[in-house]
Amino acid sequence: MKIDPIKNGIVIDHIEAGKGMEVYNFLNLAELDCTVALIKNVPSKKTGKKDIIKIDADIELDLNVLGYIAPEVTVNIIKDGKTVEKSKVALPETLKNVIKCKNPRCITSVEQGIEHVFTLTDKEKRVYRCIYCESQA
Ligand code: ZN
Repeated sequence: MKIDPIKNGIVIDHIEAGKGMEVYNFLNLAELDCTVALIKNVPSKKTGKKDIIKIDADIELDLNVLGYIAPEVTVNIIKDGKTVEKSKVALPETLKNVIKCKNPRCITSVEQGIEHVFTLTDKEKRVYRCIYCESQA
């Protein structure tokens, strides 16, 4: 299958196969007015298969969110049909209002209007803990 190359926009490449939809939902891409293509199971030399998301607009992506759900991806910025920037995302040290604490007794569950903040406590295992009650995300 061929997808038209984009002129100005963003390509999220090397998404783990099958995870494209999750990334799409997490980044709220359904709310965009521009062309967004989610391409699944693209043959990849490195991993066998991968998903790719192409966004035909120069938008601000939340790389923190992206780093949390898909730290393996590469983000390519396209200008005038050429890749002008290629960057790897990384696991963010802190997550603010990305995920919610599941502990019903946590202050963020009991009171409204408190920021949901998690910090990375184990890089290897990708463990995040709530800064208020230390519950694992
Ligand atoms: Zn908590």
